[in-house]
Amino acid sequence: MNGLAEAAGSFALTRRLSRKTRPDFERWQAAAVRRFLDRDLPRAPFYRQAPARLADLPVTDKALLMARFDDFNVHGLTATEAWAALARDGRAGACTVGASTGTSGNRGLFVISEAEKYRWLGAILAKAVPDLLWRGMRVAVILPQNTGLYDSARKSRLIKLAFFDLTLGPESWRDALEAFDPTVIIAPPKILRHFAAENLRLRPKRVFSAAETLDPVDRPMIENFFRLPLGQIYMATEGLLAVSCRQGGLHLAEDSVFFEFEPAGEGLVTPLVTAFRRQTQVMARYRMDDLLRLSAQPCGCGSPLRCVDEIVGRMDDVFRLASQGRTILVTPDVLRNAVLKADRRIDDFRVVQTGPDSIELKLPPALADDAAAAAHQAMQALLESRKAVATVALIRAPLPLETSRKLRRVECRLEQ
Ligand SMILES: [Zn+2]
Repeated sequence: MNGLAEAAGSFALTRRLSRKTRPDFERWQAAAVRRFLDRDLPRAPFYRQAPARLADLPVTDKALLMARFDDFNVHGLTATEAWAALARDGRAGACTVGASTGTSGNRGLFVISEAEKYRWLGAILAKAVPDLLWRGMRVAVILPQNTGLYDSARKSRLIKLAFFDLTLGPESWRDALEAFDPTVIIAPPKILRHFAAENLRLRPKRVFSAAETLDPVDRPMIENFFRLPLGQIYMATEGLLAVSCRQGGLHLAEDSVFFEFEPAGEGLVTPLVTAFRRQTQVMARYRMDDLLRLSAQPCGCGSPLRCVDEIVGRMDDVFRLASQGRTILVTPDVLRNAVLKADRRIDDFRVVQTGPDSIELKLPPALADDAAAAAHQAMQALLESRKAVATVALIRAPLPLETSRKLRRVECRLEQ
């Protein structure tokens, strides 16, 4: 089967599944997971003696997958070989190697086949822009590195795809981007917001935030500038995890991933994912670091795929503070809301836990002093309400656009 047929098949399946009722969808998913457990999973050495039920598989995580990389892919490709391939052109035999962005030493590697790459492309098109496809699209992808995933689209007639390297900085490709005149833009929210601030000449039909947590504070600025609702594409080394529909619901990609959820406090969950349509690198009951708030209501669009209200941030960035002789956790959304609700003029900030009992609140110098004082007070009030022992230092400093690392407005810098 050639690549485009693979993409078209995946496109059609994704569309067909989106019209199923929830019970019908769950039956399809259960059969697909069963097939994965019987046929695909045991091909990875780690799962030679795989138990019959998903629930009996061990929980895995990034540390385990990276330490025993070759045991989790069917070609026996080692991590050393994969890193070497990535440093060349990302090709390892018939496969593509990619890596997640992240601090060095903390990057996740993935390996996928040509067929999987096209299947991924078909699925993302079916979810994000099914109506635009037939009219021809110019898609601008602006991410920290070309993961190799997008190469599959580059040559197709219906899609013109251009990749802009975030790490080079927007000034190096601004003219090229404007000349390309994209109809679809996929970029981290900080870059979309930067486009608004710099008033770039762009007229897309669809805009998606990707690669970083979308903070509620960025959304109105981006939507006002483009005069479009902002969509989200949530993907990671673990694959495509959620894409928003035209009605704004952020639907989990349950048509390729089976999700289990572990409670993380404050009504949030962290997912265990089983990517049941991946066959090259097996990812089963893989514990992710992201904190999600699941929607209580189904989306009005009628898709059977469940929705998340928000991807709140990462478990790594939950603050850990001493309170009455024990350690309490404060999640990023709670910290963020305390700052933003303190004053409407606040549209950017950083909150960093720098030590067991020290927190920095950073606000730009242009912000009015009384707004900064209100945010400082709100942070202290939050800690008092939790009886947490910590001091908050208010720092007034510029918050420049950083293109070399992920933006995390709430960040915990304690050793794990
Ligand atoms: Zn929907």
